[in-house]
Amino acid sequence: MMQAAPKKDRVNSSHQTFILSSDNYYGQEANKNFMSPTWCKKFMECEAEALAELRGDWIPDPDEDKTNLLVGNYLHSYFESAKAHEEFISNHSKEMISTRGKTKGQLKSDYKVADAMIDSLKNDKTFTQLYQGEKESIVTGVISGVKWMGKLDCLNLDRGYFIDLKTTQELSKRFWDSRRHRWVPFVLKYDYQLQMAVYRELVKQQYGIECEPYIVAVTKQSPPDKAVITIPHEYMEDALQRIDEQLPHFEDVIAGVQAPVPCGSCAYCREHKQLENIISVDDLLDS
Ligand SMILES: [Zn+2]
Repeated sequence: MMQAAPKKDRVNSSHQTFILSSDNYYGQEANKNFMSPTWCKKFMECEAEALAELRGDWIPDPDEDKTNLLVGNYLHSYFESAKAHEEFISNHSKEMISTRGKTKGQLKSDYKVADAMIDSLKNDKTFTQLYQGEKESIVTGVISGVKWMGKLDCLNLDRGYFIDLKTTQELSKRFWDSRRHRWVPFVLKYDYQLQMAVYRELVKQQYGIECEPYIVAVTKQSPPDKAVITIPHEYMEDALQRIDEQLPHFEDVIAGVQAPVPCGSCAYCREHKQLENIISVDDLLDS
């Protein structure tokens, strides 16, 4: 008897039983049905870690990630709507208010920084004129034969652009990129060009309009720095090319047809490492 082919939920098919919405966007069902820039980047960084995380067998860095993520969401909710911000605060007041020492009862320092970042943007004329449009807009489409989802911070179809808010340490901070063998800014380090390229493509498929992506970055410095950043189109084309080359393999890994390739250096890989080879001192650094 022939074995049934593994189910590939995300490969483009006409039947759709799962309806994506703002309530289920970050849930397991959504990830089963759609690829997203976040997950694609995770697979590009380490297939073994990404697969374990997708299956719920591994939780990355629970403590450190949480505050960063919450601070980011706190800022995003402010610019989404007054209601969203109030909801965020009432749902997370426990994590946000200090319960010990001299600062007991006060907003924790991370959130004071976030408030300064919010003030820096909300008092900026260019930002308030630019940040107009549909907030938290969900888009879907098909890229390289697979269904994708995206959530745009602010989409302005009339003026033909969308905006993604990013928080970062410093605008000019340098990161070593071992793929390109050079120093790169945070936008390229975190492959935001891939996210913007996917969003641009999904908006085009859903609305027939080619939008320009802008990153509005605000820093955690005191006082915060800020910038509106565009991405050269060749960077976005390169990102779509990388997706096209690697996505079929990722889908096979997710479907269990191919084994995930471990990166060998992330927290997941270190925890599961078994000594096998003896290496030369020359192999220790990224080339
Ligand atoms: Zn790894």
